[in-house]
Amino acid sequence: MRTVTVVGASLSGLYAARELRAQGFDGRLVIVGDESHRPYDRPPLSKDFLTGLVGEDRLALTDAEESAELDAEWLLGVPARGLDARGRTVLLDDGRTVPTDGVVIATGASARRLPGGDLLGVHTLRTLDDARALRTELTSGRRRVVVIGGGFIGSETASSCAALGHDVTVVEAAPLPLLPQLGPNMAAVCAALHRRAGTGLVTGTGVAGLRGSGGATPAVTGVKLSDGRSLPADVVIIGIGAAPNTGWLAGSTLALNDGVLCDDGCVTGLPQVVAVGDVARVGGTRAEHWTSATEQPRVAVGNLLAGRTVATVRTLPYFWSDQYGARIQFAGRRHESDTVRVVEGALGDGGPAEGGFLALYEHAGRTTGVLAVDRPRPFMRVRRELTRGEDPVEPTML
Ligand code: FAD
Repeated sequence: MRTVTVVGASLSGLYAARELRAQGFDGRLVIVGDESHRPYDRPPLSKDFLTGLVGEDRLALTDAEESAELDAEWLLGVPARGLDARGRTVLLDDGRTVPTDGVVIATGASARRLPGGDLLGVHTLRTLDDARALRTELTSGRRRVVVIGGGFIGSETASSCAALGHDVTVVEAAPLPLLPQLGPNMAAVCAALHRRAGTGLVTGTGVAGLRGSGGATPAVTGVKLSDGRSLPADVVIIGIGAAPNTGWLAGSTLALNDGVLCDDGCVTGLPQVVAVGDVARVGGTRAEHWTSATEQPRVAVGNLLAGRTVATVRTLPYFWSDQYGARIQFAGRRHESDTVRVVEGALGDGGPAEGGFLALYEHAGRTTGVLAVDRPRPFMRVRRELTRGEDPVEPTML
C-alpha cells in the first residue's frame, strides 16, 4: 500500500493513524476531517469543559511533535463526499479527489435533532463548536434549562447545568434515565442522583414539540410534552442520541445499516476498507464509547495492512460517565433478564450511599457485567477478570 486515507479526524481516526505508523506503514498518510479542528477529546464537552473547569487547551488529543512524527497530510475543514465503488478514490466536497490504496472510515456520529431545533436557545452537544455555543449561553445568568433525553449526554449535561446553578429539568420518554444501558435497578440509582441535586425529572412522556417566540429571530420559550403538559425553557438541550455519519458513503458498494457493516475485525465488504469507532457496526454491534474507538484501530489497521481479516476485536464493552460528582463505570454485556447484586458498598435512599458501591450483573449463573459508582479499584479488578473470561472473585470471598 502506498497511500492510506483516514476519513474522520477525531479519536478513532487519530488512533488509526498512530497504528498505521506503529505497524510499519511508511507510505503517504492522508487524514480528512470536516471539522476545522485537530483531533480533540469529546467526553469533557458535557462535563468539565461545560462547567468551565477545563479549557480548550486540555481537549487536544495530539500535539505538534506527534503530528510531525505521524508525517500525515491533514485535509481539515472539508468533508469527504464519496467513495468510489472499488474503494480506491475518496471524493472531497470541494471537488478534490484522493486516489488511495486503503481507507479507514472513522466518521463517527452526529447528534440527532428535533423539528424546531433552529430556534435560538436550542442546542445539541457533539462537537467543540456545539459546546462553545452552549457554554456561552450558560454563562449569562440563571436560566431555565430543559434537557430532552436522559441518556449519557443528557444526564451529564443536566449535571453540569445544575452545577452552574441553573434550574434544570430532564425529560425522558422511558420510565427511567439510562434504562436500556443499565437496566431498572441501576437506572433508578441514576434517577436518584438527579433528584438529590434538585434536577427535575419528567419520565414516561415524550416531547411533542418546541415553543418559540415570534419575530425575525425566534427563540425557544418552552417544550410541549406528549401528555399535554408544557415546560417553560430559556435553553433546551437535545440529547436524544447520535446517528452514524454514513451519508457520504451512499454511492459506494459498502453495506450500510445504522453504521458501516464490518466483520469482527472491522473489515468491510472491501478488504482495503476498514471502519472504526462510532460509525462502525463491528460484528453486529455499534459501540459508541471512547474505549471502543481507541481499541478497534489496532485490529482494523492490522487487517487492512494484511489485506484480510487476521485478527478480531475481542474487548469487553466498557464506558464511564460522570454525573453530580459521581463516577459511574460499567463493563460487560447486559441482558434483559439479568439480576443485579450490590456486592460492595451500599445504596441509600435509592441512590449510592457515601463511598459508592459495586454491583454485579448476573445471567444464567454467570457474571456478565459490573457497575461501580465511585469504586474504581474493585471495578478495574472485576473488569480484568471478566475480560479474561473468569467469573469474578467477590470481595466477601477474598
Ligand atoms: P467522532 O468523535 O464522532 O469523530 C468523527 C469525526 O469525523 C468528526 O470530527 C466528524 O466531524 C468527522 N466527519 C464526519 N463525517 C465526515 C466526512 N464526511 N468527512 C470528513 N470528516 C467527517 N464515551 C465514553 O466512553 N465515556 C464518556 O464519558 C463519554 N462522554 C462523551 C461526551 C460527549 C459530549 C460526546 C459527544 C461523546 C462522549 N463519549 C463518551 C463518546 C466518545 O466521545 C465517542 O465514542 C468517540 O468520540 C468516538 O470517536 P470517533 O472518532 O469514532 O467519532
